[in-house]
Amino acid sequence: MLRMVDIIEKKRDGEALTTTEIRWFIEQYTLGNIPDYQVSAFLMATYFKGMTREETVTLTMAMAQSGHMMDLSSITDYAIDKHSSGGVGDKTTLVVLPLVASCGVPCAKMSGRGLGFSGGTLDKLEAIEGFNVNLTEEEFARLARQNGIALAGQTGVLAPADGKLYALRDVTATVPSLPLIASSIMSKKLASGAQGIVLDVKWGSGAFMTTLDEARELAKVMVRIGADAGRDMVALLSDMNQPLGYTIGNALEVKEAIETLKGGGAPDLREHCLEIARYMLLLAGREKHWVDPDTTRKLLEDNLSNGKAFEKFRQMVEGQGGNLAMIDNPELLPQAREQLGVFATENGYISGVNAEKVAIASLVLGAGRAKKEDSIDHAVGVVLTVKVGDRVRNGDKMGVIHANDLLKAGEAKALLLEAITYSSTPVEPLPLFYDAILGRRN
Ligand code: URA
Repeated sequence: MLRMVDIIEKKRDGEALTTTEIRWFIEQYTLGNIPDYQVSAFLMATYFKGMTREETVTLTMAMAQSGHMMDLSSITDYAIDKHSSGGVGDKTTLVVLPLVASCGVPCAKMSGRGLGFSGGTLDKLEAIEGFNVNLTEEEFARLARQNGIALAGQTGVLAPADGKLYALRDVTATVPSLPLIASSIMSKKLASGAQGIVLDVKWGSGAFMTTLDEARELAKVMVRIGADAGRDMVALLSDMNQPLGYTIGNALEVKEAIETLKGGGAPDLREHCLEIARYMLLLAGREKHWVDPDTTRKLLEDNLSNGKAFEKFRQMVEGQGGNLAMIDNPELLPQAREQLGVFATENGYISGVNAEKVAIASLVLGAGRAKKEDSIDHAVGVVLTVKVGDRVRNGDKMGVIHANDLLKAGEAKALLLEAITYSSTPVEPLPLFYDAILGRRN
């Protein structure tokens, strides 16, 4: 008979667990037959002792199969998905999904809510009045078939073991463990039904992984898990030392996504989205179409400038009950009462825009959640238009704080001024991407 105490002991002593042990543990925990105090001990042992590749793959599959495995075959014979490991100002999904769908590749994606920092994709979409993220599986499939695009919340039946484990990790200081992060992310991706998956693995001050080496290791593990589970994988290593784009905060990010979908937007965000979309098309084309990077890029750029990508976004919003007037005139999106300018305090070159500090500023304003139950203020956030390498003069406008509370605005301003550092000599801009790791299904 298997006992949780023996499994904890084995992991505590650094031994590898068998497939039977891992499967039993996940099954019994999902059923509510193992208490949280034992699982907490197991998580801490895993945090310190790690897992082998085989253990991590088994854990991921067991978590994916702890609930419903989605079948997207009624939508497409080869579904693609993307996932970002989380970043500050990351509104990529809002741009990339319609952009890829505008090329004729159906995009049906389940997204999460944000914890900490600014909101997640669902929170951003809910800044649009009426937008329904709570689709049933039937509605989700019908919209994806009809419009080639649907973006909804994860249902509770998708990898429920991860929901329980993540909540426990959050309160036992065991989130930053490579096998636990990799299995958490990949179990949801595998359960979501895609055959091709593009992962955007970020590193830097505003990411889970604070060094490039850690991010590379996480990316490699996730690519291996996906390939072992029969998926085509790409992991892009991207920068999160400064925020992506100019905005952090839900309605502000929707507005920036719309600008980007219309061919404008911050250059770093545009470039980031074009590259993620290019790899999604590369997988969707299965080595027959969209192989040449220049041709693919031209198609994507054209669809940003000819209105096709924006039209797809409109179709998605309409299909999910969102107020189209807000999309056609983003000034109608929720607006904060107070706007406070942020100005340079030195002459020189921007040497850092610390993403974590900017994220905390937006959290202080109310754009994110410190606890799962917290509500979000869609209107508030930060616009910051300076990037590492930019030359500024003392007094130049660098951004605007959008607040509904002047006291919080003052706190956010102090954090932003701390986040921005200067150099008297020229500074190289930060790269957007560092590497791409590809893995084909085994
Ligand atoms: N995102 C997830 O879904 N899980 C983690 O553990 C970390 C980031």
